[in-house]
This record gives sequence, structure tokens and C-alpha cells, in this order.
Amino acid sequence: MSVELEELYQQVILDHSRRPRNFGEVADADVQVRGDNPACGDEIHLTAKFGGDGSFQDIKFRGQGCAISLASASLMTMKLKGKSRNEAEQLIESFHNLITGTDSSSSGPKLGDLQVLNGVRKFPQRVKCAMLAWRAAEQALQQPQGQSTVSTEVETD
Ligand code: ZN
Repeated sequence: MSVELEELYQQVILDHSRRPRNFGEVADADVQVRGDNPACGDEIHLTAKFGGDGSFQDIKFRGQGCAISLASASLMTMKLKGKSRNEAEQLIESFHNLITGTDSSSSGPKLGDLQVLNGVRKFPQRVKCAMLAWRAAEQALQQPQGQSTVSTEVETD
């Protein structure tokens, strides 16, 4: 394993991939999103319940895949739980900027432990792994009821 890859698998990532937080399904979920990352084989099933104000009252996930995808999903649920719609949208954008390396300012919301995932910016395929859960959460905000699916592969036709 290269030094760069070793940097990816830091302690926090290993911990969250082995013992994912908020793993399971939200009872009486308002929304279910199934996410796929065919490039790596990662799958996620995100369930969420929204408060009357549109905030993430509860959010859980089930999934299988690489350590990066699981750790990112675990860290994400901890971060988004209890957040308002607006805060959640800002976090999703900040995280995307962090791992794609386009973040040029520090004005966004604090990402805390999620910073450990910034090593993926060097590996485009890994960016898809890290973004999978976040794309599912984004989809949940866009369509806050029922079931939907997302994929990291852009449909071309
Ligand atoms: Zn993956």
C-alpha cells in the first residue's frame, strides 16, 4: 500500500467503517434514498425523518462498500442529524468542496472529523465513494418524501 493510500485510511476512517454510527433504518421514515457507486460497488440505503421545520430530525443508513464510503456515510449522519435544511445544504456543499479541492475559503460551516476525508481529493474514483452518502442526502432534501435513487455515474442519455 502506498504512503498516500495509507494516509487515506486514517484512524477515524477505520473506526467509522468498522463501527458505523446511525446504522440501520429510521422508523416511519419520510424518505428513502438508494444510492449506487458502480465504479467501486458501494451501495447505500439512506432513511430520514424530517421535523415540521424541514430539519433532519433523524437520519440513518445501511450499506455495504469500501471503508471510505462507509466512514463518510457514518460521519455524515452524525453531522446532519438535527440540522436545518439550510445548514444541511451548506454542509453538503462544504464537504463537496473539501474533497474535490475546490474549497478556497474557510467561510463554510465547520466540518470537524470530516476533514479526515480530504485525502480523497487526490483519487477521483475515491471522491465518488466519499460523495455517495452525501448525494443521497442531497436527493432526500430535493425530494423529501417517498423513495428515490441516485448514482455517482451521470446518466448520459
Ligand atoms: Zn468505494
